[in-house]
Amino acid sequence: MASVEAQCQRCHSRLEAEDLRCPVCALPTPKPPRAAAREQARVIRCSNCGAAIAYSVEAQAPKCAFCASEMRTETQEDPIDQADRFVPFEVGTDQAHEALKTFLGKGGFFRPQDLASRAAVDSLQPLWWPGWKFDAQVEVTWTADTDAGAHRSAWAPHSGATHLELHNILVSASRGLTLAETQALSSSYDISKAKPKPEGPPGAQVELFDVTRSGARRQILSAVESTAREHIAKADLPGRRHRNLRAAVALSGLDTAHYALPAYVLAYRYGKKLYRVVVHGQDPSCVLGEKPVSWAKVAVAVLMALALVIVFLLIQAS
Ligand SMILES: [Zn+2]
Ligand SMILES: [Zn+2]
Repeated sequence: MASVEAQCQRCHSRLEAEDLRCPVCALPTPKPPRAAAREQARVIRCSNCGAAIAYSVEAQAPKCAFCASEMRTETQEDPIDQADRFVPFEVGTDQAHEALKTFLGKGGFFRPQDLASRAAVDSLQPLWWPGWKFDAQVEVTWTADTDAGAHRSAWAPHSGATHLELHNILVSASRGLTLAETQALSSSYDISKAKPKPEGPPGAQVELFDVTRSGARRQILSAVESTAREHIAKADLPGRRHRNLRAAVALSGLDTAHYALPAYVLAYRYGKKLYRVVVHGQDPSCVLGEKPVSWAKVAVAVLMALALVIVFLLIQAS
């Protein structure tokens, strides 16, 4: 697809077709000339968690890959962002099952002993979740108290300004996965392996971008801010300790790309309850999810603690 290279009229940053504002200086973009003949897209959206996938005849209204609720077809007025870079699966479905077993086996004391043997896999869905990869140029001014040059007092004020080039920061555009899940997954993707077409197990679904890039501007800015603070704390601050680090960032350039990132969403049943587990599509050791708690074991621990307290009180009293 050839896209016209658009530029912000104020700061000359590169714009994308769906940007309503400039991602760098927030100047509203002129209305695209095609606005009148905007294409409407059909999507299939979960009625519970809101995750959406592209409409296709073979997958008319499947169960939601994330929460197994019913999905409905809808017509979308706004343009939808779609990934054009697919990070390939490197974990097969067998490996994903295996990863779940290992995860359940590492019980911890308060987990039921028969968890690994009694948990029944209810569903396993390979999917790509959407995320922006961005590179940013940022001007940062900061102030902080550090112990450098503090002499007899504990802290001395410092400040500075620096230019940072940030690369390959991932920001989730998924509705099906939680922020905590996508943050935990993000650190172990090798996005340099991305391909223009999806490559993965049969039946893998592609989740659509939930918000456009300009809609996610605040999310992108807060990722820029926190990454910039980490850089400053590591590289720019004098002294060994610091407090009250404040950083103000101004974007001077932003390049984003639409990525699709592989993962498995599994649901397993233990007793009457359904639990969700997410397995990384490239790294089978990265498994996120919930496990049931053995209330019998918790009760035993509480009783033992109580017994200890009573013994202690008796000793004190005697
Ligand atoms: Zn601009
Ligand atoms: Zn759902």
